[in-house]
Amino acid sequence: MNTRKVLAYAAYKADENLKPFDFVQRDCQDKDVEIEIYYCGVCHSDIHQARNEWGGSTFPMVPGHEIIGKVIAVGGAVSKFKVGDWAGVGCMVDSCRACSHCKAHEEQYCKEGVTWSYNSMDKIAGRPTYGGYATHIICTEAFALSISKKFENNLAATAPLLCAGITTFSPLKKLGVGKGKKIGIIGLGGLGHMAVKIAVAMGAEVTVLSTSENKKADALKLGAHHFALTTKAENMQTLAGSFDAILNTVSAPIDYNAYLNLLNIGGTLAVVGIPAEAVPVNPAILVMQRKQILGSLIGGIAETQEMLDFCAEKGIVSDIEIIKVQAINEAYERVLKSDVKYRFVIDVKQSDMSK
Ligand SMILES: [Zn+2]
Ligand SMILES: [Zn+2]
Repeated sequence: MNTRKVLAYAAYKADENLKPFDFVQRDCQDKDVEIEIYYCGVCHSDIHQARNEWGGSTFPMVPGHEIIGKVIAVGGAVSKFKVGDWAGVGCMVDSCRACSHCKAHEEQYCKEGVTWSYNSMDKIAGRPTYGGYATHIICTEAFALSISKKFENNLAATAPLLCAGITTFSPLKKLGVGKGKKIGIIGLGGLGHMAVKIAVAMGAEVTVLSTSENKKADALKLGAHHFALTTKAENMQTLAGSFDAILNTVSAPIDYNAYLNLLNIGGTLAVVGIPAEAVPVNPAILVMQRKQILGSLIGGIAETQEMLDFCAEKGIVSDIEIIKVQAINEAYERVLKSDVKYRFVIDVKQSDMSK
C-alpha cells in the first residue's frame, strides 16, 4: 500500500490565499506511473478555478496542470515509462477512452467527461484529483507524456508546453500553418508568446497584432516577422484581407468582426480564449468571403506528444520566471496584471512545500 504523504499547496476557499496542504497518495495501479514533480507552470485557469470563477470548484484544491517530473515508480503493466524517465502531465489525467471522441484521440472532448488533473474526481481514489503544486502525482501511462532528453537542461521552461504549448499548437496545426502562410497572432501573453514561437517554427510569416506598442520589441525578439498596433485605424485598413489565419489568444472580449476583416477569402479566425461575455459576429463577413471561426480546447494526448516532440526538435520552450511555491499568491496577482514574461513556473523540487 502506498503510504506516501504528498506535500502540496492548496486553495482551501475561493477567497483565501493558497496554503500548505498534504494528503496520502493513492496506490499505483497496473498501468499507472508515479511522478516526483520537479516543476509546475502557473496557468491563468488555475486562478479562475482556485477562486471559483467558473463555478463548481471543490476545496481544498491543489491546482497545476503544467507538470514535469521524474518517474519514481511504475505499475506492473506499464510499457511506455521506466523509473528514472522524465514525464509530463498536462490538463487531463484520464477520460472514458471508449467514446467516439476518445477513440478519435480527442480526449479533451470526451462525451463522458474528462478527468482533469485537478478539481475533478479521481476514479480510483474516490476523492478530488490534485494537481501539480505538489511533490508527487500518479497518472495512468496513457495520459502521461514522454519528455525528450533534449529538454533536460530546460525542464522548467518545458512545463508550460503542457497547457500553453498544446493550446496554441493544436489550432495552428489544424489551420495548416506552414511555409507561404501569413498568420496573425492576437495577444502576446502566456499563450501568445508560445503561438509566435510555434507558428514561426512551422515556417509561417507571423505578425503579432497587439493593442500595446511596448510589446513590439518582444514580439520581434520572439521571432515574429512583423508587429501591428491594432488601435491604429490605418493599420487595420492596410492589413485588410492579408492573413490566411489569425489566432486569438486573449480572453478579453474583442471585436471579432474587425479581425475577420483582416483575413483573406477563406481565412479562419481561431479562438482559444473565452471572454466572460458573448461577442457579436456579423454573418455577412463570413458568407461574402467564405470565412470561418474555429474554436479549440487544448489538444488530445497524442497531439500533445506530437507538440512536445516538435518543440524538442525545434528547440522551443517557454519564456519563464521561476518562483518558489511561497510566492504563488503574489504570482497570481501579477498574472492578473499581465506582469510576467511570460509564464511563472514553480520550482517544486527546490521549494519547502511544508510551510
Ligand atoms: Zn492551463
Ligand atoms: Zn470518452
